[in-house]
Amino acid sequence: MKKNQFDTQCVHEGQLKDEQYKGAISPLYMATAYSYEETDRYPRYFNTPNQLGLAKKIAALEGAEEGLIFGSGMAAISTALLAYLHKGDHVVLQNDLYGGTTNLVVEHFNKYGIEYAFADSLAPASFEAKIQSNTKVIYVETPSNPLMKIVDLNSIAALAKKHQLISMIDNTFSSPVNQNPIAFGIDIVLHSATKYLGGHSDILAGAVACSAAHMERIFSIAKSLGGNLSDISAWLLERSIKTLAIRVKQQNENALALAHFLENHTLISKVYYPGLPSHPDHALAKQQMQGFTGMMSFEVADGLDRASFEKNLTIIQPVVSLAGVESTITIPAITSHKLLSAEARAKQGITDNLVRFSVGIESLEDLKRDLDNALKNASHES
Ligand SMILES: *Cc1c(COP(=O)(O)O)cnc(C)c1O
Repeated sequence: MKKNQFDTQCVHEGQLKDEQYKGAISPLYMATAYSYEETDRYPRYFNTPNQLGLAKKIAALEGAEEGLIFGSGMAAISTALLAYLHKGDHVVLQNDLYGGTTNLVVEHFNKYGIEYAFADSLAPASFEAKIQSNTKVIYVETPSNPLMKIVDLNSIAALAKKHQLISMIDNTFSSPVNQNPIAFGIDIVLHSATKYLGGHSDILAGAVACSAAHMERIFSIAKSLGGNLSDISAWLLERSIKTLAIRVKQQNENALALAHFLENHTLISKVYYPGLPSHPDHALAKQQMQGFTGMMSFEVADGLDRASFEKNLTIIQPVVSLAGVESTITIPAITSHKLLSAEARAKQGITDNLVRFSVGIESLEDLKRDLDNALKNASHES
């Protein structure tokens, strides 16, 4: 039988049949206690009906054999890493990861006897330079946060094969709509489902997608660590993912148009968006992504009061998270990267004028007007 296309899978894959009342959507099974005569079913074993249905949907969207749903992105990430890293092992990581992942590694790995190294740049050779005889895992995140740099998935997968490493990717920023790393030979795909998969800024969840063999190993520690998602959230997340394709396509489209608009705006000095031909990794992004996401960053012009720009926005909201249907901004220098020194930030290219922009599904004209008004008002106030 021919497999359904992506958009159809978003709506239907993994849906539970309502045998009793023949309703059109998955019933919600909240039980934490099931008969021991049938199976060893228990929410912490990731095997309630709603957990299983949702896992199937995520696996289909990533083209993976199996999926597993967690209570947060960090639960998925920490569980996957700990499944493959033991005392004496070593992991090579990208240097600009999501802050929570960096904290996990830098603050906790030493005490478990796990060694690590961060690649000096995103070039595959920089990753290879850090590989040692005890390296077990190579870990990437593309596009990166907040500068939207792109890592070459083909090269990373090849590097992992050559050195017999497990490759892992945090695919949160792309979502399965824009990038399917398993097709490039990456072993394990991780998501903060709190972002695009949930998409409405109201669910905290995470996911892993990989082969059945890798999942067996991840599952064996996952059920002990206990980072599960509740059934009611699994049910809500399944509902959210029904509109994933349509949401993200609209976000891609809005973001591309706004990236061009901002790049040509006199009060903006720089735009970081992989969909722009001016982006240094544009060719690579085109090769491995179906769309360029709703995420971008830009710098307001020198001398323009960034805080006043933020205050003058009326539709776009200042919040820390991302990927919701509503457009939001955050300022890396005072949020995600505030713990770094100003010099360390400057070295990464994160200036005080840098704004990270998560583009929503509102009307393009309204978003343009909101940005334009806020920039002009800020420039009058500066
Ligand atoms: C938010 C985020 C995470 C962490 O996910 P939580 O759901 O907050 O635990 C991991 N990676 C990326 C890229 C993120 O944006």
